[in-house]
Amino acid sequence: MKVAIVGAGASGLFLGGLLSNSETEVTIFDGNEKCGKKIFITGKGRCNITNACDNETYLSNIVNGEKFMRSAISKFTPFDTINFFEEQGLAVKVERGNRVFPVSDKSSDVIKALENYCRNAEIKLHEKVVAIKPQSDKFLVKTEKSSYTFDKVVIATGGKSYSATGSSGDGYKFAKMLGHNVVSLVPALVPIELKDKVSDMQGLPLKNVTLYAVADGKKYSFFGEMLFTDIGITGPIVLTMSSYINRAKNVDLYIDFKPALSEEQLDARLLREFEAGKNKTLFNILRTLLPKNFIKFFLSKAELNEQRQANSITVMERRMLKTLLKHFPLAYKGLYPIDAGVVTSGGIDLKDVNPSSMESKIHKGLYFIGEVLDVDCLTGGFNLQIAFSTAYACGQAIIKEVKNV
Ligand SMILES: Cc1cc2nc3c(=O)[nH]c(=O)nc-3n(C[C@H](O)[C@H](O)[C@H](O)COP(=O)(O)OP(=O)(O)OC[C@H]3O[C@@H](n4cnc5c(N)ncnc54)[C@H](O)[C@@H]3O)c2cc1C
Repeated sequence: MKVAIVGAGASGLFLGGLLSNSETEVTIFDGNEKCGKKIFITGKGRCNITNACDNETYLSNIVNGEKFMRSAISKFTPFDTINFFEEQGLAVKVERGNRVFPVSDKSSDVIKALENYCRNAEIKLHEKVVAIKPQSDKFLVKTEKSSYTFDKVVIATGGKSYSATGSSGDGYKFAKMLGHNVVSLVPALVPIELKDKVSDMQGLPLKNVTLYAVADGKKYSFFGEMLFTDIGITGPIVLTMSSYINRAKNVDLYIDFKPALSEEQLDARLLREFEAGKNKTLFNILRTLLPKNFIKFFLSKAELNEQRQANSITVMERRMLKTLLKHFPLAYKGLYPIDAGVVTSGGIDLKDVNPSSMESKIHKGLYFIGEVLDVDCLTGGFNLQIAFSTAYACGQAIIKEVKNV
C-alpha cells in the first residue's frame, strides 16, 4: 500500500512515523527545504507540545469541532502524546496551566524527535504538491517536479496563517477541487485592531482585568492579562477573545479594571480616595487605580482634565469615572489579518469527514488531518494535540486496512 502525505508538519510527520513503522510505503511531500517549520516557531520557540489534562478538560478548550474530536482524542489522549515523546527520548516538563514543554526548551528537539520517528518514511523536501487527482481507485499526485501514483493521500497541509512557514492554504484548494466544502477561513488566536490611537501605550500590560465583548448580541468575558500593540491589543485574554468573535459582524469591546469589585464597592472606594486626597490632582488619584501610562487615554474618554483637583470633581463625574473603570470602551476595528493568527478557524467541513478515521466521505482513500480541518482550540498546547490525535486516528485506520488486505 502506497500512501502520500502532503505536508511535513506536526500531523504529517507523526503520521509518517506511525505508518512507516507499520510496513506501509510512505512518501511525505513538503514544499519547504526542511521539516516542521511551523513547529519551530511554536510556544515562542519552546513548543508547547500538549496540555497535561484529562479528555473532558481538553474538549472544553476546543472552540470549533468539539464533537468531531471526541473520538480521536479518546484514541490518542494528551497523555499518549507525552508518553510518545518520552519514548522517543524527549524529556518533557509540565508548566503553569498544565502546558507541556520539552525540558530543553527547544522546539527544534521536538522536530528532531518527529524526524527520527519518521526515519523509515521517504521525505521529499523542496517538492510542493500542486494537484491531487483521483484515478480509478488511486490518486495522481502532481508536484512541481514530477507525478506519482498512490493508493491513499493524506492532506496535512496545515492552516493559512504564518504562511512563511509553508502553510499557505493549498490543502483547502485541493479539497475544493476534490468536491469538499471548505468552511470560510478566519483568523483565530489573533490580536485585535482598534480605531483608538494606542501607539503611545505600545507594550503596556494590563493585568488582572476582564476583557468583555458583546458580539452580535452574545456576551464573552475573559479575565487575565492583555497588552497594547501599536494599533490595538494582544496578550492571552485578547487571543482567546478573538477566537469567539472572529465571525461576528458587530462587536462592542470593554475592559473592567476592577472585576473583583461590584459597582457599589468601587463607588465607595472612589469616594474614599477622593476624600483622602482632596487636594490631589485627578491624575494622582487615578494612579492608585490604573497603570500610570494608561491614565491619559482613560481621561480622554472621560473628557476630564488630569490636572483637576479632586475636590472639584462632582458626584456625576465621580460616577462616570466609576462606570468607565467597570466598562471602559475600546473602539473595535477588527482582527489582525489571517496571516497573524496563531491558528486558522474554518477549513475542511467536518460533515464530510469520518471522525474515527479522518477519511473523506466523498473520496475513499483521501484523508485530512491537523489544522486543515475545521477544528480550532485555545492556547495551551491544545492545537498541536489536534494534529497528533487526528494523525493517530488516520494512521490506525490505514494500518487496519493494510492488515486486512
Ligand atoms: C506563532 C505560533 C505559535 C504556535 N504555538 C503553538 C504551541 O505552542 N502549541 C500548540 O499546540 N500549537 C501552537 N501553534 C499552532 C500549531 O503550530 C499548529 O496548529 C500545528 O502546527 C498544525 O499542524 P499541522 O500538521 O496541521 O500543520 P503545519 O504544522 O502547519 O504543517 C503543514 C505543512 O504542510 C506543508 N505544505 C503546505 N502546503 C503544501 C503543498 N502544497 N505541498 C507540500 N507541502 C505543503 C507546509 O510547508 C507545512 O510544513 C502555534 C502556531 C503559531 C503560528
